[in-house]
Amino acid sequence: KAHLDRITAVDGDVHAFLHVSDHALDVAADIDRRRAAGEALGPVAGVPLAIKDVLVTTDMPSTSGSRILEGYMSPYDATVVARSRAAGLVPLGKTNMDEFAMGSSTEHSAYGPTRNPWDLDRIPGGSGGGSAAAVAAFEAPLALGSDTGGSIRQPAHVTGTVGVKPTYGGVSRYGAIALASSLDQVGPVTRTVLDAGLLHDVIAGHDRHDSTSLKEAWPSFADAAREGARGDVLKGLRVGVIRELVDGEFQPGVASSFHTALEMMQAHGAEIVDVSAPHFEYGVAAYYLILPAEASSNLAKFDSVRFGMRVTPHASATVEEVMAATREAGFGDEVKRRIILGTYALSAGYYDAYYGSAQKVRTLIQQDFDAAFAAVDVIATPSAPTTAFRLGEKLDDPMKMYLNDVTTIPANLAGVPGISIPSGLADEDGLPVGIQFLAPAREDVRLYRVGAALE
Ligand code: GLN
Repeated sequence: KAHLDRITAVDGDVHAFLHVSDHALDVAADIDRRRAAGEALGPVAGVPLAIKDVLVTTDMPSTSGSRILEGYMSPYDATVVARSRAAGLVPLGKTNMDEFAMGSSTEHSAYGPTRNPWDLDRIPGGSGGGSAAAVAAFEAPLALGSDTGGSIRQPAHVTGTVGVKPTYGGVSRYGAIALASSLDQVGPVTRTVLDAGLLHDVIAGHDRHDSTSLKEAWPSFADAAREGARGDVLKGLRVGVIRELVDGEFQPGVASSFHTALEMMQAHGAEIVDVSAPHFEYGVAAYYLILPAEASSNLAKFDSVRFGMRVTPHASATVEEVMAATREAGFGDEVKRRIILGTYALSAGYYDAYYGSAQKVRTLIQQDFDAAFAAVDVIATPSAPTTAFRLGEKLDDPMKMYLNDVTTIPANLAGVPGISIPSGLADEDGLPVGIQFLAPAREDVRLYRVGAALE
């Protein structure tokens, strides 16, 4: 009730939600009844959960921020949603996002932007700005996001929240409306590392509906966070700092907050190690070929026949004319831009030059990570180059928007897990800054130990 009241009070300004559940209180009351009847419920039973609109739900519309899916009702729940319900979490509503998760500011939502609760003239990050803003504005204690190139971690960075992108395959993608299938991962957005661990424990694990889901039996991430909170995990921890990511690339307050965090870690016994990742800087270029290529294929299913809206331009229109009119009206500019880029990169004669080269760069970045992780336990970077920028600031310049992803993209290309945790406020603008930790694939627990130790 308190969270619904909070949504009523602030969401007119923040616009974190696209849809608020009309039966959350009934679900919560049912949990209460079960608890009173002596049923053993898990640690998060009864806790409200905000759900990014990229995740399909049977009881609320799922639009992925797109006009083409306006009002779309899914016949099934995403696996992460089903697991959340089974754990007793109470879905509060669906959160705003850049259309089909393409963007870094939530300004590409077909339903209007979300605003950063710290400063309503600024962006909440993207694509999962709604989930991060909901958590930052105390509209929800926990939220689910998806991270294809940073859409959990960068919104966490600019809103002073915690965001985790799990190891690729660690969390089921079934029912997450696909952006780029080889990069997408679902994960938690919360206010503390322990909260993230508790939610991650609920959603992790093999799912036979997702062919890329790992068979792994995961240790408890909440336990890892509790272990980290004791602090001594920093002793002897080898923390890699990437030589090629120089301070000049970051806003001064972001760079100085990063160095302060490193000094704190050092003071508690961590060893800061200089590592080289020479191909990191090509991540953005490779990503913006691989992602549009996969997205153009994934979005082909929005053909006016199978899902969502249909525009019939005139009575005798052919199937092709209906399809073209629907996609013209249903997709926003950024989505069209990426479909065009993707189909071009995949077309005969260009495939090797663009998509093929990008895949080779992807392998080189994976090798950079392998080499670095032979020498260190985790890698640390600032989570993103700047604090929250102003609405409209990068909207007309896609290249500027894309470059904001330089620090987050490599983890998706390599499939490794990453966390962004708050590391203070930038001196020059007083806005939140995050520090990112990356670990080898399957070592998500390290992120929780280190994150909780620093918190
Ligand atoms: N900003 C990135 C993009 O526009 C990240 C998107 C994401 O992680 N979903 O593609």
